[in-house]
Amino acid sequence: MANPNGIRLKLLRALRRVRHRYDARRTLGMTVSLGILIAVPISGLARVDLWAGRHALLFQTVPFKHGLAGVIIGIGAMYVATFLVNLFGGRLFCGWGCPVGQVSRFGEAVDTLGLRRSQRLMAAGRGALFSGALVLSVMAWWVDLRVLWQGSGTPLMIAWGVFFVSVALTYAHGRWWRWEFCKSVCPIGLYYSFVSPARYFGIHFRNQENTCIECDACDNVCPVDLAPRDLMAPSGPRPGLSIADAPGRNHCLECGDCVRACEFMIERRGNAPVPLLLGFFSGPQRIEASNSPETGNSSEASGSTEAS
Ligand code: SF4
Ligand code: SF4
Repeated sequence: MANPNGIRLKLLRALRRVRHRYDARRTLGMTVSLGILIAVPISGLARVDLWAGRHALLFQTVPFKHGLAGVIIGIGAMYVATFLVNLFGGRLFCGWGCPVGQVSRFGEAVDTLGLRRSQRLMAAGRGALFSGALVLSVMAWWVDLRVLWQGSGTPLMIAWGVFFVSVALTYAHGRWWRWEFCKSVCPIGLYYSFVSPARYFGIHFRNQENTCIECDACDNVCPVDLAPRDLMAPSGPRPGLSIADAPGRNHCLECGDCVRACEFMIERRGNAPVPLLLGFFSGPQRIEASNSPETGNSSEASGSTEAS
């Protein structure tokens, strides 16, 4: 399934002109996950402090091994929480709560076509800020962040060095690697693909009303090159860390980009209902293409043409 970066960016350009309910939901999801990630160590619920030895557990200063146990339990608890979310809806956390995915979103926002220079700078600034927050949230588990303003000499240099290098790498990830990481490298994503395919909640194609216009916008906007109308079918060989020939739903991030693109294309045609949904599964997952309407020729119905 081809998904040239340019076509996704072209579609994103069209989509960003219309406010969508998913914007606020994703912001909420990211705020909650990043907030938890940073609140646990900063509050002293669990932290190891490699700088001044102020290890913490349950808001008390404790010996190193207790702080380390708290960190391990904290990471384990977050794993269980995301596992339960994903058990319910496949890689739902990947699409709505994973800060690494959000870094990719900020990175591609800079390249979205049609932005003025000032808008590109703003987008880059937002990406850098988010990268900084993500790096701080990870550092806070291993060092008391006061080292950044109270530390002196070597610890101060190391702390700021680690911070700036990590932010640069995180930002670069969002700008140049992006979804390739989620698609074929992320070991956690691979694990979730394997153990918790979407069983109850996810993307499904409902075309009983024959409203699909075969525009392929859903295919072209998918950041991980899936076929959203046919996620129950084997996805075929995929690069890197992935399960060969697993159904597409195993790999789906549940990000909703395809639904958003579909709503955009369908609504501007005045059609209803929207055939692609993100929600609870019920009934068959695919209405065969032969049931689809013969609306428009292929160039008319092309997602890239429509969205430009
Ligand atoms: S929700 Fe849609 S766009 Fe997002 S990964 Fe799944 S199929 Fe692709
Ligand atoms: S109408 Fe929706 S489901 Fe049909 S091809 Fe276009 S985006 Fe995909």
